[in-house]
Amino acid sequence: MAEIKIATLGSHSALQILKGAKEEGFETIVVCRKHQVKPYKMFGVADKIIEINNFSDFWKTEKQLIDENAVLVPHGTLAAYTDVDEIKKSKLMYFGSKDILKWEVSRTKQQHWLKKAGLRQPKIFKRPEDIDRSVIVKFYGAEGGKGYFLANSKEDFDKKIQAHKGKRYILQEYIIGVPVYNHYFQSPMLDRLELMGFDKRYESNVDSLGRISARDQIALKSVDPSYVITGNIPLVVRESFLSEAIDIGENIVKSSQKLAKRGMFGPFCAETIITPEKEIFTFEVSARIVAGTNPYIPTSPYSYMLWDEQMSTGKRIAREIKLAIENNELNKVLG
Ligand code: ATP
Repeated sequence: MAEIKIATLGSHSALQILKGAKEEGFETIVVCRKHQVKPYKMFGVADKIIEINNFSDFWKTEKQLIDENAVLVPHGTLAAYTDVDEIKKSKLMYFGSKDILKWEVSRTKQQHWLKKAGLRQPKIFKRPEDIDRSVIVKFYGAEGGKGYFLANSKEDFDKKIQAHKGKRYILQEYIIGVPVYNHYFQSPMLDRLELMGFDKRYESNVDSLGRISARDQIALKSVDPSYVITGNIPLVVRESFLSEAIDIGENIVKSSQKLAKRGMFGPFCAETIITPEKEIFTFEVSARIVAGTNPYIPTSPYSYMLWDEQMSTGKRIAREIKLAIENNELNKVLG
């Protein structure tokens, strides 16, 4: 078999994926929008750059990537901007589970999955009439929290939804606590779960509202919090939270095995909120590498302890592919 290469879409966590692949000795390919090639050139992580105009042109490069014998490593941008059906029908080698995708993209299916995993979740309100506490109104499709708003009653909701007419949404209990994103890697080759790290997000404008006094916030009548992600901040959690963090990862994997063939494998993330009572609520799962792992090039403290060497999630993916090739079991890591 010709040498396997590692390819990804130029965005999100591509630098980390490509850097990790090179560290493991793979040749790398990035498929990138013309105006975004600079970082991939500057950091020297891509052996080949294929330029496209828009993300939606990605699948036009499929044949070329197949001819290159490339394994595609997916990330959030690929999931957000291309169709799940396109991913499913693609003949390109794909790292991770395709079967779990449909459980991830649908908010209702995802809640079912988390419920099956026995995790504490924020309450979901079926109708605006049922709102009896603060809720966060979330729209469908991972858009990094764009347009989300808080509502405290049906009247408040009715007023604020005007700007979003026609969009599908869910009403989720707003948990007062701190958001913590747990990163994991489920390894089919080593048959184990690895805790890779944690991050917190830096979101606009919610992370800057606290910089103005309540008096000024009230004066700025039209300012509602929004959750547009601008970056990720590394985080080490209290050690006493680790057992439960590991349980959460294990339970998500266990329940995924009941929902999809072979279950979920590769990197994933549980999005949680920890309350002052130290209760951990899990409100979402991402079934692939998350951008919150980007601060951990070259390593997180946890992956360093596990591997006794520096290990980013990007490098961990490449290591898994390498282990699979060495064992002649590449299929084990492909969806
Ligand atoms: P992505 O898919 O990239 O994670 P998203 O569009 O699905 O993004 P969420 O992660 O669900 O967005 O939410 C955006 C932000 O809103 C979170 O980072 C968190 O700060 C806040 N948030 C979401 N759900 C809740 C909740 N139930 N209680 C309190 N805060 C929440």
